[in-house]
Amino acid sequence: MKKIILREDEMPTSWYNVVPDIPGGLMPPLDPETKEPISPEKLAAVFPMGLLEQEMSEKRLIEIPQEVMELYKIWRPSPLVRATKLEEALGTKAKIFFKNEGVSPVGSHKPNSAVAQAYYNHREGVKRLATETGAGQWGSALSLATSKFGMECKVFMVRCSFDQKPYRKSIMQTFGADIVASPSEDTAIGREILAKDPNTSGSLAIAISEALEDASSRKDTNYALGSVLNHVVLHQTVIGLEAKKQMEIAGAYPDVIVGCCGGGSNFAGLIAPYIPDYLEGRKIDFVGYEPASCPTMTGGKLAYDSGDVSMMTPLIYMHTLGHNFIPPGIHAGGLRYHGMAPIISALIRDDIIRPKSVHQLECFEAGVLFARTEGIIPAPETTHAIRGAIIEAMKEPDRPKNILFNFSGHGLIDMAAYDSYFNGELHDYSFPTEEIAASLASLPCIKK
Ligand SMILES: *Cc1c(COP(=O)(O)O)cnc(C)c1O
Repeated sequence: MKKIILREDEMPTSWYNVVPDIPGGLMPPLDPETKEPISPEKLAAVFPMGLLEQEMSEKRLIEIPQEVMELYKIWRPSPLVRATKLEEALGTKAKIFFKNEGVSPVGSHKPNSAVAQAYYNHREGVKRLATETGAGQWGSALSLATSKFGMECKVFMVRCSFDQKPYRKSIMQTFGADIVASPSEDTAIGREILAKDPNTSGSLAIAISEALEDASSRKDTNYALGSVLNHVVLHQTVIGLEAKKQMEIAGAYPDVIVGCCGGGSNFAGLIAPYIPDYLEGRKIDFVGYEPASCPTMTGGKLAYDSGDVSMMTPLIYMHTLGHNFIPPGIHAGGLRYHGMAPIISALIRDDIIRPKSVHQLECFEAGVLFARTEGIIPAPETTHAIRGAIIEAMKEPDRPKNILFNFSGHGLIDMAAYDSYFNGELHDYSFPTEEIAASLASLPCIKK
C-alpha cells in the first residue's frame, strides 16, 4: 500500500497529553520577577483559561471540542505515505513512511494548534490575537484560524522572513490579518532595537516580545504562541494519534521516528502517543533534527530562560541558546528559535530523544531528492526531517527497519530559497560558538 487514508470517523476524538509520562517530570515555569513558580492568574492576562488548564494538565486524554473537530475536517485526517520511490533511489532495505501535514490550507502542521487556540480565546470573549511568526507559517495558520471565528489578528513577522517570503504576507492578508515586519515601530521594544541596529534581521525572541507588548497593552487582545508550550504540543498530538493508527493499518511498527525541531511541537506531536509503548519496553529510536546554525538541543544548555528578548514570558526550563541569540538568516525560518519545548527538553534529559544537527546544504540536497522521487516539494524546515530520515535509512541500508518521519510542510511558498540553492548562493554556517557563549552568559540567575 502506498498511501493510508483514514476516514473522518476514524479521527482521534481526544488529544494525548504526554506530560504525565515524562519519567523525570517537568520543572514549573517561573515568574520572571519573583523567580517563584508563576501563578495561573498572572498568565491569564494574555492566555485564556481553557489553554492554561491544558498547559498545566496532568490528565492523559483531553477531548477535542466539536468546533475544533469541524475545522480539522477541512484537511484532516492527513495521509500517511510510504516513500517507496525515495527508498528505491537510496537503495535501502528500510521502509520509510511520512505523515503528510503539508495538506493543510496553509501547507504545514501549524493550524492543528492555531484553530484550537483561536477556539478557546473566542469562547472566552477575546476579540483579537497578537502573535509572532518566523517563516510565516504560524502567522498564516493563526490568520486562517482567527478568520474562522471572526477575530482580528496582528502578526509580527521576523524581518528576514518578511523580506524572503512575500507570499506568506499575501496569505495572511487574504485571511484578514494585519502584518508588520519585526522589529517594528509599533512597539516600544521594537523601536528600541531598531534604534540600536536598524538593519537587524530580527529573531523570534524579538517578535514574541513585540506581540506580548501588544497583547498586554490592550484589553481586547490575547497572545498566541505557535510552538514550545505544552498546550501547543498537546494539539499537535493529533498528528501522532492518526499516524499510529495508519502505521497499524500498514502493518509496520516504527523502529525509528524522525522529525525536525524548531520549537519542537511537530516532532513532539508525532512521538507523544508512542512514549507509553517505549516506557513499556518497546524499542523506538526517537531522533530530533535541528539546524547546525541554531543548535538549541545539541549546542545549548538545559536551564531556565526567557522565551523572548525583553524577558516578559515566564522563565521556562528548556534547552536554550540564550534569549539574546540571533541565529543566522537561514532559509528554514521556522527552525530559528533559541529555545526548545520543555517536553522535548525533558525527554532528551531522560535519554528518550536523541538530538542531532544537520547543515543547510545537505538538507536542501535531501529536499530536492525527495521532490524528484516522491513528487512533493518540502518546506526548508521539513528538509531537516527528510535529511534525518535518509541518515537513519543509510546507517545500515541492508537491515530492514521501519522509519517514520513527519512531513511538517510543503515548500511551494519557499521557492525563493530553492532558487538561492540552485544558484549556489546558500552556504553552511559554522557552529556559532562565540555568539552562543555570549548569549548563554546572559541567562537569568536562578537559585535552586
Ligand atoms: C514551524 C515549522 C516547523 C518547526 O516548528 P516546530 O514547533 O518545531 O514543529 C517545522 N516545519 C514547518 C513546515 C514549520 O512551519
